[in-house]
Amino acid sequence: MSLRKLDVVIVGAGFSGLFLLHKLRSSGFSVAVIEKADQLGGTWHWNRYPGARCDIPSLQYSYQFDEDLQQDWNWSEKYSAQPEILEYLNHVADRFDLKKDIEFNAEVISARFNEEKSLWEIKTSQGEIETKFCVMATGCLSAPNTPDFKGLDDFEGQLLHTGKWPQTQVDFTDESVAIIGTGSSSIQSIPVIAEQAKHLYVFQRTANYSIPSNNGPMDPEQEAEVKSRYPEFRKENWENGFGIAGMAIEEMAVEDDEQGRKEKFNHHWENEGLGFLGAYADLMLDKEANEMAASFARNKVKEIVKDAEVAELLSPKFTIGCKRLCVDSGYFEAFNRDNVTLIDLNTNPINCITSKGLMAGQEEYSVDSLILATGFDAMTGALTRIDIRGRKGISLKDQWKDGAKSYLGLGISNFPNLFTVTGPGSPSVLSNMVPSLELHVQWISQCIEWMRDNNKKVIESTKAVEEEWMTLVNEVADLTVYKSCNSWYNGSNIDEKAKEFLPFIGVPPYTEKITEVAEQNYQGFVFDKTN
Ligand code: NAP
Repeated sequence: MSLRKLDVVIVGAGFSGLFLLHKLRSSGFSVAVIEKADQLGGTWHWNRYPGARCDIPSLQYSYQFDEDLQQDWNWSEKYSAQPEILEYLNHVADRFDLKKDIEFNAEVISARFNEEKSLWEIKTSQGEIETKFCVMATGCLSAPNTPDFKGLDDFEGQLLHTGKWPQTQVDFTDESVAIIGTGSSSIQSIPVIAEQAKHLYVFQRTANYSIPSNNGPMDPEQEAEVKSRYPEFRKENWENGFGIAGMAIEEMAVEDDEQGRKEKFNHHWENEGLGFLGAYADLMLDKEANEMAASFARNKVKEIVKDAEVAELLSPKFTIGCKRLCVDSGYFEAFNRDNVTLIDLNTNPINCITSKGLMAGQEEYSVDSLILATGFDAMTGALTRIDIRGRKGISLKDQWKDGAKSYLGLGISNFPNLFTVTGPGSPSVLSNMVPSLELHVQWISQCIEWMRDNNKKVIESTKAVEEEWMTLVNEVADLTVYKSCNSWYNGSNIDEKAKEFLPFIGVPPYTEKITEVAEQNYQGFVFDKTN
């Protein structure tokens, strides 16, 4: 196998990788994207389960780096379904001629920093590359979590994971189906699977909050209005704490009266999806305010679900928004169907998977298909599952075993010239991902250009700045209710993972911070360290 030499290797051909390729190639760097799948799309390639769709409005979940692109593209629905997002990404790749520099079916096996040469040696399933910079555009929710259920290998039916869905059509007609997990992926797929399957068994460990999407065709007037002022509309993203336009509310729930709250919550329930949490400014800051929203949402479940026992089981008990809020199209309604059964894993734990199905409590459920909707090793899994070695052969997995530390979610000490897009310590999953990743792509590209123009060879973060930054990340989270439950935001969905809060809350202060760092010649980072 021949050794290729490049300026930049980008790992992953999703939203981030595609834009990085375009940006860096336009600046004159030699670049390749390494992609393990046989096609581009990242999240939107792998998560093609029935009902998969984005829960950020289409007009906001799209690139803003090219005005012609955002004017030309038309989304067909308020919230885009997975096939349309994949089509959009293919359109972008064709429009900017990106595919010729993407190596498909190539999995990165290892990445090692050669200290003598100050180069990264990347080994993929297709060959070896030597590169000055390596950018991990591997996504925050891309390493599927498959719990170690006893007997999983014994199952003789069709075994599926929502995060690794097959490209071929999966048809559940006349089948008995079991789904484990009730997070966003499951909540989106249950109503669709319930319509096909003979019977669907839903195995729930923790009931989740979900807001109706009230999805529908794109309103042409709204689309025209947004397109007439797209840059200004995008600016609203940057001014909102979560990077979502239209959520900038200042009223406090605790200061409103009961009738006012009822009307406001109802309006947001019916119209805002994820923006339900933006009904008042204090919902994620104050437990009392949060409980007002939580209790409203629980009452909605009881209004929708006819069987009172099932409704009670489906009513979440924790702080709303503390686990990632879900947005659905007919989730709770699906439990009114005769062919859907809810099983509470707290009273009937899964004992084992059998050749025919699964044993929960004393009962065996025989099924044709078993779906694991059990989520991801979020934010760090896609990085620690690759053998990445920095200075002195230090492995990233080892360095992060007691917690992931990163400066601004962009750079990691001991790992020079390695950047992460939307890494731990950045708003990432607590923001609208597309603008957030665009911000990182712009920052990383400008940094690499600046280094070229200023004859700097190696950039790296230090232990001190990342300690300080991750302390701030946690101090900010302490001001909110985000730490009050088990969630993948704090690693508690994966047993062996360090339990620490990883996203930075607050898009505007974060944007200000990284802009200032760049303006001050990458303050906090160290260049051309000699030992
Ligand atoms: P998730 O939110 O982590 O949900 C996983 C589910 O599996 C939870 O209900 C969890 O229960 C359950 N589970 C995990 N291990 C289990 C075990 N050993 N036994 C029983 N149950 C188990 O994963 P997800 O639904 O794939 O969603 C992940 C994230 O992806 C979302 O939060 C969202 O950010 C993103 N996503 C976005 C969209 C969108 O934009 N539309 C759609 C899908 C996903 P516990 O809660 O008890 O741990």
